[in-house]
Amino acid sequence: MAKKTRKPTSKSLSAAKIRADEARYMMKTYRRPPEVFTHGRGCRLYDSEGRAYLDFLAGIAVNATGYAHPRMVRVIRREAGRATHVSNLFHNPYQAPLARKLAEWSGLDRIFFSNSGSEAIEGALKLARAYAHAKSGVQLKTRFLALEGSFHGRTMGALSITSTAKYREPFAPLIPGVEFVKFNDLADLEAKFDDTVCAIVIEPIQGEGGVNVLTDEFWSRARSLTTHYGAALIADEIQSGLGRTGRKFAYQKFSSLPDIVTVAKPLAGGLPLGAFIASEEFASALHPGLHGSTFGGGPLVCASALEFLTLMEEEDLLANVRERGVELRVGLENLAAKFSFIREIRGEGLIIGIDLSVEGGPFVAEALRRGLLINCTHDHIIRLLPPFIIRRQDVAEFLSKFETVLARVSKALAKKQAATKSESPSQPLALAAAR
Ligand code: PMP
Repeated sequence: MAKKTRKPTSKSLSAAKIRADEARYMMKTYRRPPEVFTHGRGCRLYDSEGRAYLDFLAGIAVNATGYAHPRMVRVIRREAGRATHVSNLFHNPYQAPLARKLAEWSGLDRIFFSNSGSEAIEGALKLARAYAHAKSGVQLKTRFLALEGSFHGRTMGALSITSTAKYREPFAPLIPGVEFVKFNDLADLEAKFDDTVCAIVIEPIQGEGGVNVLTDEFWSRARSLTTHYGAALIADEIQSGLGRTGRKFAYQKFSSLPDIVTVAKPLAGGLPLGAFIASEEFASALHPGLHGSTFGGGPLVCASALEFLTLMEEEDLLANVRERGVELRVGLENLAAKFSFIREIRGEGLIIGIDLSVEGGPFVAEALRRGLLINCTHDHIIRLLPPFIIRRQDVAEFLSKFETVLARVSKALAKKQAATKSESPSQPLALAAAR
């Protein structure tokens, strides 16, 4: 069971009130478990009953430095007492040093700050269109390519290049001229690419799509086609970027750069900030008045982001991501050898997918009961996105608890299936029992 650190207090009553008011007043966009999370420390989150949870989801890849990291707290407190917001009509002290660091990290040249991942994607799409218009004059070069399994966000433009039908269809018509290329399929890429394409958008590792890793060959071919046709190669690194793979950007294992890259999630250490970063060539398509944001890149969030990137460097968190990533991977491979319903372990560094031959939901629910936060995407892929600060003992604790979760759920499922089988003996067993 999830470890209790404090006795239940009257706060548990207010948790019931919170749930009731949410049910009554909030739009029904999320299906939430009953816990109300109130605070965190390091890679542990606490609920209103005082129970501790080892967080291997990290706010869906946001809380890279965990909760209440002293350096982040210091900077956020400092800036909250100065100026949280200064209009983009004026300079603030932190955009320039942050932009410089992002340019150095990415190998690209210029930055625009947004408030979220979706907005960064919108900006990247607009930049690709602006570049195509400026270069070709006529408005023929307008198509976007994206990949099957992609997730780029919920705003209209980002949704238009997101492939999952259930996210898209209720909002049709989306922006026209988008086509989806089969993941890692060179022939399909070549068939769909021509001089009417202004950009292809690629997650080097698909996150929401189930932790699918792009091949070098696909990236290289996308690079050569975009260069040939004067289109933009856009890397969406909102989930995979800023250290999650153990590299600053996931694309840095390939031999060529994108033209534009989008980032968000961990960028400001838990505060909302996104950015799109472009080469000089593409960035030159924007001039004053073409794009903007009220909130994007305010002093508080930029100072926080600068602290996060500096902390990454000074505490060598990339090395930690790589080392803990290997330990986690090895441990999960061992579990895959024990539990035959684990089909595959995928990913790099601290973005890991555990592909199951059964539904993942019951595993997520059991993990929560045992004090572990994990996530399931596409119904059967458990996704792990722990903070970059996890320690060796956190990985060991996770693996031990996760093994119990796997054993318990698989036992319950096997029991259920045995019961069904005895009712209708001709039905095959879908779940292979734990080996
Ligand atoms: N792109 C990717 C790869 C993402 O994972 C996400 C968020 N899951 C987005 C874009 C959208 O980001 P946001 O929710 O901040 O708008």
